[in-house]
Amino acid sequence: MSNAAIDTNDDYSVYQTSTISALLAGVYDGTVTVSELLAHGDFGLGTFNHLDGEMIVLDGVCYHLRSDGSVTVATGTEHTPFAAVTYFHAKHELAIDTVTTRHALTALIDGTINSANVGASIRISGTFDSVRTRTVGEQKKPYPPLVDAAAGQAENTLTQVTGTIAGYRTPPFEDEISVAGYHLHFIDDSRTRGGHVLDFVLSSGKVEISPISELHLSLPETTEFLDATISTDVAADENQAEGGS
Ligand SMILES: [Zn+2]
Repeated sequence: MSNAAIDTNDDYSVYQTSTISALLAGVYDGTVTVSELLAHGDFGLGTFNHLDGEMIVLDGVCYHLRSDGSVTVATGTEHTPFAAVTYFHAKHELAIDTVTTRHALTALIDGTINSANVGASIRISGTFDSVRTRTVGEQKKPYPPLVDAAAGQAENTLTQVTGTIAGYRTPPFEDEISVAGYHLHFIDDSRTRGGHVLDFVLSSGKVEISPISELHLSLPETTEFLDATISTDVAADENQAEGGS
């Protein structure tokens, strides 16, 4: 394992549209397009309008992973109700050459960041013994809360797969804004399989960490958002809907 500072660029800002608490409340339609999103970053995650699957953005390409297992490159005119992107550049890089569970790897990342109070963008690439994912399914109005929508999600376990996990580590005090702890999405190297990560075991690869110094939060001005009853105590629902941290 090595840990070297490899980047001197100090722009570590994240652009996010809407909040996880709004998504938990069933605000599944947004006005931000994929084109607008990609103007703010080349890396990130989110979902699509109607809660139609999972989003992962890697190297400036936005992938749309649906609950039927299909994966497409999202068109610029698709909309998102919740997404966060950044221009990813690693400040820390950890080489992993032994089988490492999600629990052990996130502990390693926590130790590298060395503060519970700062967020980070996380990219994990390599060969995975297993990756357990879920993909939420498209919802119809009246929209159910995310906890209910996620109860019908498609789960899948991939084994011996090469690919990339993209996501964020968020401080606990931001849990109404983003998913507190680790929120990670996966796509395989063939760009045909993936989803929201519930668990994984990495057999070899690398972890890149980019501390977040700024958050640009863009809130919707839709009636749906303005009229929503948004909880200020989301920890339990977040854990249930997003699979823990
Ligand atoms: Zn997710």
